[in-house]
Amino acid sequence: MQPTDSSSPKASNFLRQIIEADLASGRDAGRRFAGVPGDARQLAAAPLDTARIRTRFPPEPNGYLHIGHAKSICLNFGLAQDYGGVCHLRLDDTNPEKEDEAYVQAIRDAVRWLGFDWVVGGVGHEYFASDYFDFMYRGACALIEAGLAYVDEQSPEDMRRNRGTLTEPGVNSPWRDRPAAESLARFEAMRAGKHAEGSMVLRAKIDMAAPNINLRDPAIYRIKFAYHHRTGDRWCIYPMYTYAHPIEDALERITHSICTLEFEDQRPFYDWVLDKLADLGLLARPLPHQHEFARLNLTYVVTSKRKLAQLVSEGHVAGWDDPRLPTIAGLRRRGYTPGSIRLFAERIGVSKSDSWIDYATLEGALRDDLDPQAPRAMAVLDPLKLVITNWDEVMGPGMLDDCQAPVHPHHPEWGLRRFKCGRELWIERGDYAQDPPKGFFRLFPGNRVRLKYGHVIACTGATLDADGQVTEVQAMLVPDTKSGTPGAGAVKVKGVITWVAAADAAPAEIRLYDRLFTEAQPDAGGRDFLAALNPNSLRRVQTWVEPGLAALPAGTSVQFERHGYFVADVRDHAPGRLVFNRTTTLRDGRGA
Ligand code: ATP
Ligand code: MG
Repeated sequence: MQPTDSSSPKASNFLRQIIEADLASGRDAGRRFAGVPGDARQLAAAPLDTARIRTRFPPEPNGYLHIGHAKSICLNFGLAQDYGGVCHLRLDDTNPEKEDEAYVQAIRDAVRWLGFDWVVGGVGHEYFASDYFDFMYRGACALIEAGLAYVDEQSPEDMRRNRGTLTEPGVNSPWRDRPAAESLARFEAMRAGKHAEGSMVLRAKIDMAAPNINLRDPAIYRIKFAYHHRTGDRWCIYPMYTYAHPIEDALERITHSICTLEFEDQRPFYDWVLDKLADLGLLARPLPHQHEFARLNLTYVVTSKRKLAQLVSEGHVAGWDDPRLPTIAGLRRRGYTPGSIRLFAERIGVSKSDSWIDYATLEGALRDDLDPQAPRAMAVLDPLKLVITNWDEVMGPGMLDDCQAPVHPHHPEWGLRRFKCGRELWIERGDYAQDPPKGFFRLFPGNRVRLKYGHVIACTGATLDADGQVTEVQAMLVPDTKSGTPGAGAVKVKGVITWVAAADAAPAEIRLYDRLFTEAQPDAGGRDFLAALNPNSLRRVQTWVEPGLAALPAGTSVQFERHGYFVADVRDHAPGRLVFNRTTTLRDGRGA
């Protein structure tokens, strides 16, 4: 199943242009692939790949995915979809220490929830980089034998010092020209667990004077006595990301390996690894190509798994799916829809230069996605009692008046919602003013307003407590003004207020979320982002909502008229205990 949104054609971008040019030139047409990753020998027997392009989304299973990953997911799966290709879900689990099976499951959930699938035509394309450890080891041995890699026994400090700087070339390691057989024996001993962590590494032999520091004999394997969530204790040496990644791409026959800009300087090494291993007959050509795009930076949040993990582990938020977090799980719980996130990704596009995207862009996409589909309801966020003092005379003692409203103003076919009006109502505290400022059209003594979907009322006064706080507002119902009845418009009013009837409304907890950080770039320049935490990012109110919401299933979005979009919380909402999260206000601008 693939998403079906985006009514307008997708805007072109530099990646689309590259892919179109590569398809036109037939660069990757000779690729063989039978649905199973493989080396040159295995792939030689495979049929030509039926996918026109292959992309991959390669998260490291060391945390929950965030909105930045969502951009990458929409991009990689979206491009594959649009160009007759396939996108692989690859768990990039080459770094054992922080990885965990639970994260793997959360990653799958997030990708599927966004509307994408790695099972195409009945063939699953979920892969684990750790499945390629044997090949990576074999590749490393082949590089050693070809004189293209060596075991370096310098101390980590010497290695760092001898790397040189941007202006000075590096210095060759004394181990650089040791015989291949000696490096091979050492490497085998590393694998066998005979050497301590940090005592030696395997390095590619390229050029210690290369202007690009990444080509100054980069490390490709290190010793790490760490338990791996999938391979257990089988390995005590692990490949470096920069060596592993191109190999993963090549074994899977990826055509376009799309990554963020910080890997641009790694591209020469990416190509070096692939080229050498292909020359040695281990990897099949044509080889994958790396392309970089600007990562997403979103204001008022942090998008780094490490920082998100810190917020969770130190208890600044209530878990990975806290609705204030920009994790996909958090956005989902906050009420973001998959369609809104795909729309956001489409709108921000891809570029080659880093920039910050305003959080309002994400909220705007949500409103545009929800407006046509969210049912409407009334809810009072800051309740104040209103008593209609002539109710019993006009309507009859104890009488409740039936009112109705469209479920959605643009979908009459969705029918009507029904609720009651009565003598006592809950209204918004902000809809009453004892001393109205200029231009205030809602309730104040002497003014008339319409109860939305109900009658016009005339405010007669209010009761104040000793501190001057309004505790109750009084009004009189104006007969024959009920919305939808003949002549209802005869009495003109400037204000319309939302309300729920005390005798009819359902109690609810509403969680009013605000930005988690008070600063647009909380972690810019390596700052302590915790210092910018917003102490008021969550406010819970016990209040009242329209009675029909009592049956709303958890996870359903609704627009509270005049207030914004809310969602029935997926964890805590249940019939009889209504809990809503505010997803976003109705308009940009941070009111309520
Ligand atoms: P983090 O620093 O949060 O751990 P990461 O890049 O290390 O992020 P990975 O799991 O390695 O996380 O990322 C998987 C994919 O998601 C990579 O291809 C990466 O380019 C992409 N990605 C991660 N963060 C962003 C972002 N902010 N914008 C766009 N793409 C991103
Ligand atoms: Mg990473």
